[in-house]
Amino acid sequence: MGGRRAVAGIEVVCGPMFSGKTAELQRRLRRARDDGRTVQACKPLLDDRFAAREIVSHDGGRLRAAPVTAAAEIVPLAEGVDVVGIDEVQFLDPEIVPVAEDLARGGTRVILAGLDRDFRGLPFGPLPALLAVADAVDTLHGVCRRCGGPATMTQRIVDGRPAPFEAPTVLVGGRERYEPRCRACHEPGRPTAGQPTVELSRSRR
Ligand code: ZN
Repeated sequence: MGGRRAVAGIEVVCGPMFSGKTAELQRRLRRARDDGRTVQACKPLLDDRFAAREIVSHDGGRLRAAPVTAAAEIVPLAEGVDVVGIDEVQFLDPEIVPVAEDLARGGTRVILAGLDRDFRGLPFGPLPALLAVADAVDTLHGVCRRCGGPATMTQRIVDGRPAPFEAPTVLVGGRERYEPRCRACHEPGRPTAGQPTVELSRSRR
């Protein structure tokens, strides 16, 4: 990359959990900062697994980040900034699409990292639309916990069993864990007859 100029545009880094998305976002933001760019990192306040004001990757890397509760809050944060990075973008509202487009049109490099699919394998929140408007997409793979193949899915396990299909996308509390799996080893669960299956990927709690 060397002295190459930062390209204004929308970059999406997606994949399942444990595929290194956050580490890749951190790497791009640090490199931009090392190149003398001004950088602003953000993340939805919803995700407080590790720390509210930092982006923390599973390998322990940390980067200061502004917590936001709505995509519109990113606009003032991005003022006068060369590069904006957003982690866990799947939790943001659909307004993130025009926000990212406006920033990119104004000359800002926008890097969005997040889960492209929820634990059922369904498109997650605004990711489908962001993938469609992105100038560059990188889909990362994890390692399937079952067979060691490339993992593209996230398996949710609650009390030792695959989570039921109807479980809310974001569980608060509960004895749950996640593991990366390939499509063949992924157990998405089945919708119960009569249960609505739309809007599931949007459900938030
Ligand atoms: Zn597998």
